[in-house]
Amino acid sequence: MRALVAANWKMHKTLKEAEDYLRRLLELVPPDPPVELAVFPSFTALALASEMLSGSPIALGAQNGHPEREGAFTGEVSMHQLADLGVQYVICGHSERRKIFGETDEFVAAKVRAAWAYGITPILCVGETLEERRAGKAWEVVERQLSVAIEGLSGPLVIAYEPVWAIGTGVPAHPKDAQEMARQIRAWLSAHFGERGEEVRIQYGGSVKPENAGEFLRLPEIQGALVGGASLDPESFWRIAQGAIGGRPSE
Ligand code: PEP
Repeated sequence: MRALVAANWKMHKTLKEAEDYLRRLLELVPPDPPVELAVFPSFTALALASEMLSGSPIALGAQNGHPEREGAFTGEVSMHQLADLGVQYVICGHSERRKIFGETDEFVAAKVRAAWAYGITPILCVGETLEERRAGKAWEVVERQLSVAIEGLSGPLVIAYEPVWAIGTGVPAHPKDAQEMARQIRAWLSAHFGERGEEVRIQYGGSVKPENAGEFLRLPEIQGALVGGASLDPESFWRIAQGAIGGRPSE
């Protein structure tokens, strides 16, 4: 299964910065990379990215999408509009959206369904807080997030295991803990969806950097990474992707 290494820019980059980044990334990435790369710009840069990445091996993703097709939802952008721009992936249930914007498991489920309805692959983020991990509830929390968000497997899916305490902190999970959680997620997928569950890619996310990417990406249980801070520089993002390829990241 081809790993997916995704760059979540969050609320960063002007249009000019986005253009400079994408131009450099397009220079770095060969025409047929053994790992799939995807870039998730802010909405303001999505149309530009769609044009620049068209025909390239780099996929386009959106950081969020509203489940309704259209209507009175000021400030929102729908999955329908994203599909119209050629968006291939959409992040659903990122912990920042759950925590800062109060998104519930049910709302995340509606987004996942809508993404499939418009032919977009959802990247469903799941993960526990530090308190939940310390209380021995990490799997209980992740299982609840999975069960509510994925009632049926109606299309291609990526699951990003992102322990909340590892996001943006510079302190990644121990690879063994990420591996253990990925195993549990895989077993859950198999129990619920049989062979179809095997097609789902499981990413790790949380303070992935060029220096540690290989520790996660070379684990057979993990098929990619969702990267925030360290994806903001094209060279750094490409070095992380090389960690998935198994090559020694260039200095
Ligand atoms: C993220 O935003 O999903 C993330 C993992 O961020 P960071 O890599 O900065 O921890």
